[in-house]
Formats: sequence, structure tokens, C-alpha cells
Amino acid sequence: MSRQEAGANASSWVVASRRNSTAPRAPERRPAEELNRRGRGSSRGGRGGGWRDSSGLSEAVAAGRGEPPLCFGFKNDLVGAVIGRGGSKIKEIQNMTNTRIQIIKGNPEAEVKIFGNKAMQIKAKAVIENFVKKQENNNSERKVDIVAFQPSAGRNASTNDSVTEDQPLIDWDQIREDAVKWEKKKWADLPPIKKNFYVESPSTSSMTEVQVDNWRKENFNITCDDMKDGAKRPIPNPTCKFEDAFQCYPEVMENIKRAGFQKPTPIQSQAWPIILQGIDLIGVAQTGTGKTLSYLMPGFIHLDSQPVDREKRNGPGMLVLTPTRELALQVEAECSKYSYKGLRSVCVYGGGDRDGQIQDVSKGVDIIIATPGRLNDLQMNNFVNLRSVTYLVLDEADKMLDMGFEPQIMKILLDVRPDRQTIMTSATWPYAVRRLAQSYLKEPMIVYVGTLDLVAVNTVKQNIIITTEEEKRTHIQTFLESMSPKDKVIVFVSRKAVADHLSSDLILRHISVESLHGNREQSDREKALENFKTGKVRILIATDLASRGLDVHDITHVYNYDFPRNIEEYVHRVGRTGRAGRTGMSITLITRNDWRVATELINILERANQSIPEELVLMAERYKANKLKREMEKKMGRPQGKPQKFY
Ligand code: AMP
Repeated sequence: MSRQEAGANASSWVVASRRNSTAPRAPERRPAEELNRRGRGSSRGGRGGGWRDSSGLSEAVAAGRGEPPLCFGFKNDLVGAVIGRGGSKIKEIQNMTNTRIQIIKGNPEAEVKIFGNKAMQIKAKAVIENFVKKQENNNSERKVDIVAFQPSAGRNASTNDSVTEDQPLIDWDQIREDAVKWEKKKWADLPPIKKNFYVESPSTSSMTEVQVDNWRKENFNITCDDMKDGAKRPIPNPTCKFEDAFQCYPEVMENIKRAGFQKPTPIQSQAWPIILQGIDLIGVAQTGTGKTLSYLMPGFIHLDSQPVDREKRNGPGMLVLTPTRELALQVEAECSKYSYKGLRSVCVYGGGDRDGQIQDVSKGVDIIIATPGRLNDLQMNNFVNLRSVTYLVLDEADKMLDMGFEPQIMKILLDVRPDRQTIMTSATWPYAVRRLAQSYLKEPMIVYVGTLDLVAVNTVKQNIIITTEEEKRTHIQTFLESMSPKDKVIVFVSRKAVADHLSSDLILRHISVESLHGNREQSDREKALENFKTGKVRILIATDLASRGLDVHDITHVYNYDFPRNIEEYVHRVGRTGRAGRTGMSITLITRNDWRVATELINILERANQSIPEELVLMAERYKANKLKREMEKKMGRPQGKPQKFY
């Protein structure tokens, strides 16, 4: 059923397809009969037809009961237009003229029968004919326009198919053209933007190709690529010393000295010369490698060196989007710690004091660090102006996508000028992240540490214990009892309930623990984290909320009580220890319920030169064999799953 027919059938007028004229026709019901049948008790008919007599017919129709219907025809393919969307047009004509109108589809002409008194019948006919004429004129004008760019196949199809022909045709080219014009207009009065602040030091420029290659190999096997289409730009040599990147920016150098850092981390060495040149960057790096400062330091310089003074910008110049409140707070802490020329930063995140955040934002800030949901809320309510942002960071993009923030990110970025500089960091490089990069970064360069698909963790000794659900408690108890006073451990569990059970169990045994999961109040979460950071408590039981970004330097152990839902999360968890050049240890309990991930886990362990338990290899083999068996059964049409019981 076509849309028009569906719409027509649902309404009070009549649209009947006239049968093929050669086929024997059933005796046609007389219009008056038809009308009575429909009018009586039909509320739908009543609504469309205006006032009614006692039998449900409008007065005019009733008055014209003895009057024969006024009949005429018009082109069948205009039936839809005459009826209108949901019958709106024909209802309007009926109401206007106090008539009842029946339209019968035919070929090539549709037949119209108008019931009512004579004068109104004539009026309704004139209205319909007038409308039909207008439609025909419109269509012929539109066809001239459209034929020029429609593929011939499409054209033929539409001339033969009356239904598609009278649908309004969408001129996509026009829509696209309008969108481009609108975008241009939207961004017409933007102040100028400056992006290149890099002066290569003599020691950086004098590095030979071999030296650069060796340096990259020795520094976690850094790999770089230019993602620009066509001719590739040269990847800048790494800045091996802080002075190589910031020789012209003494305040930055002072901050670094104050922090006591010895040398740039690998990601910093390679990211700084790219970002400082104003090139968009994707950094795929293990967490804890100094990625925050790799974008913050050049960002400070960018903000301070714009042609328009900070005071005159009417809004923030830098926006950092992060997946979680914890990471947002942490980035903010780094911002304040290395504060540069009095740049003001605020943190905007869900669960925090909204009014307070609105006040902070309205006071005038240079840097906003935000989780996408809350920022989108403030943006929609006009509490924050994002037009002034010239430096954008999408931090831990993979996690933001995992958490379903893509719609909010899209909406936020509609208000950020398109010629900004964009930096994106991600611990993994799956398809969804690549798609995001393609949409929001312009001709970026990519710097990644380790392999492209999953960053290997090589500063952590990874231990695997194959066990059962029942034995897990014993394992963790043994581990916690063997901890030395200086050890600090995060115990990762799969669910909030497990976190609660395990922590109360340990508290009952007089073991001091904190727990961190999404059901806890923000203030409790912050307190738990603070206690763990300061060392007041040395055991933190957490869900994957804490698997990323949390920067606690002295975590010595990661304990995976439950295996995470995917291998990426495993890498993030393990990355909580062995940070900033330290070494760490992870212990992972695996049960047969986790056999799906055994092969991927073996790959990760192999890449990081870790020993692989024989049992894990057997588990992977069993899983593969089982999978193969099930596939075979599927192919052969045998029942899969557990064998059924027969009684
Ligand atoms: P991130 O990967 O940004 O979470 O950084 C992890 C930690 O490394 C942070 O506490 C930084 O302060 C620290 N860090 C950043 N850059 C360096 C560096 N060049 N040398 C030593 N530590 C650093």
C-alpha cells in the first residue's frame, strides 16, 4: 500500500483503486449509500466534515442529499497531493465547502465525486481544479531542474511510477550548498587564529635519520605517520630535551624545572614539535606516559600567543573533553600545577555542583576541562560560549566512545570553530576512534607507542592465575596478607555489588580498604581516591571506572579479581601500575568463564615479553576447538549448545 493510499484509507474521504477496466466490475455502491454507511457513527468522518445532522452527516451534505454528485477527473498521479499529508488537504477543502468528496484512483485519471448542495459542489470543484493546476505547474518546473542531475535509471523509474513522481523531490545539492553557505556565515566574523610557534633547536635539526630511527626504537618503539592525503609532510625530529621544544618559552621551562622532571617522556618528545607547529595530532599511548603534559604545554603557549588578547576573547580558548570526572579533575590538577601566565582553568563534570560550575564558567576562564554530558548541558542552556575555543583536546577518545558520549561530542563540536587545532589521545585505535578522528581532525599526524591495535604494557610484570570462582576469595586473601607496608594495590572487580561485598568482607577482617564505583556519591568517590592517593589506605577496590587515566604514581600492584569485559580494558587496568618509568606487577585471576579472551591475552603477554602459563594456552586451544565444533554443527544443521535431556 502506498503512503497516499494508507493516508487516504485512514480518513473520511474515499479513495478506491478502480479495477482494471477489462476485468468484470462489482456493482458500484451508490455514493449516497456509501456516504451514509461511512457517516453514521464514524467519528473520523465527522471530524473531517465539520458539523453534522442527526445521522452524522454535515448539514450541507444532508441538504444536498437529493443532489447527484458532481463528477470530474484529474491526473491520477496528483491524488496524493490533493489528499495531502494524513488527509489534511482534502479535509481542508471539505471543511471549507461543506461537502463530502470521494476520490477514486484510476488510470490515467482519478475520478472525483463531490456530494453536497449544488453551489458548494461547484466551489469544491473549483478549489480542487485550481490546486491541481498549481501542482502541475510546480511539477513541470521542478522536473526541468531535476532532470539535469538525476541518473537516467532513476528518471525512468520515476516517470513510470506515479507514487514516486508526486513525492516532493529533495534537492540534496541545494541542501549541501545551503549548509556550506550557512557554515560560512556562522563563522564569518571569527578573529584570526595563530597556530605555529615552533622553532627547531640546532640539536634537534642536526639529528640524522638513523639517529631519529634509533631514538624512536629505543623509546618504546614510537612510530609516526602523516595522515594527510597526497604528498606526505616530513615528521619532525623528536625534541629529546625540554629546551629543544621550549627554548623560547622560559616560563614553561621554569615550571618543568620546578617539577623536577629529567627529560621529556617519549610521547612528549615526539608530540611537542608536531603540536607546536599547529598540526592536528592523534596520540595513541599507554596511560601514565605523560600524555597530559604532551598536549597541555603546547596548549598554554597557543593560548597565550593568540592575536586577540585573552580578555577580549569572551570565552575559553582551550577545551579538554574527558570521559570521566576523575580524569577531568586530574587534568585540571595538572593545569593548575603547571599554571602558565595566570591562565585560569575550570572543571565541569556531571555530578558536581552545577550552579557553582555555571558561576565559574561565567566568571571568565581560559581553559575548560569537561565531561561531555555536563558541558553539553551548559552549552544548550547558553551558559558557556564555545566560539572562542581555538585549541581542542579529545582526551581518551576511545573511552568516551565506549561510554556513549559521541552524540554529546558531536553537539559540542558544532559550536567550536572548524579551523581550530585538535589533539586526540587514545589508548587504543579501533575503527570507531579512527572514524571520530576522520570527522574532527584535519590532516593530522599520528604518534603511537607500541603496536597500533593495542598498546603493549611493558613496564609491568603480568602474572596470570588460572582458578575457579570459588577459589578467588582465598587467592586474594593470600595476596593481601603477603603485601608489604609500602605496597599499594588496586583490586579490579566486574560489578559494583562485588566491590561492596569484597570491601565489607575485608573490613570485617580488619583490613583497611576503600572502594570506588559508580553507585557511590561523587564526594565519597573523591574522598576514597584521596585516601588512596595519600596512602592513608593502601587497598582500593574498584570497578572499571578507575581503569583509565587515574594518576596515582605509587601503585605497586594491580589485582584483576574479575577479568574485564574486553582485552582493551585489561591493558588499561594493568597500566595503572608501572607509571612514569616505574615498574609494577599485575595479578590476574582467570576462570573457565573467561576462556573467550585467552587467545587475545596470550597475544598481549607475548608482545610484552611475559611468561605464558601452559594452562592458558590449553584454555585458548579448547576454546578454539569448541568454536570450530559449533561452527561445523551449525553448517551441518545439527543442534548446538548443551545436549538436550530426553525423558
Ligand atoms: P599522564 O600520562 O598524563 O597521566 O602522566 C602521568 C604522570 O607522569 C603525571 O603525574 C605527570 O606529572 C608525570 N609526568 C609527566 N611528564 C613527565 C616527565 N617528563 N617526566 C616524569 N614524569 C612526568
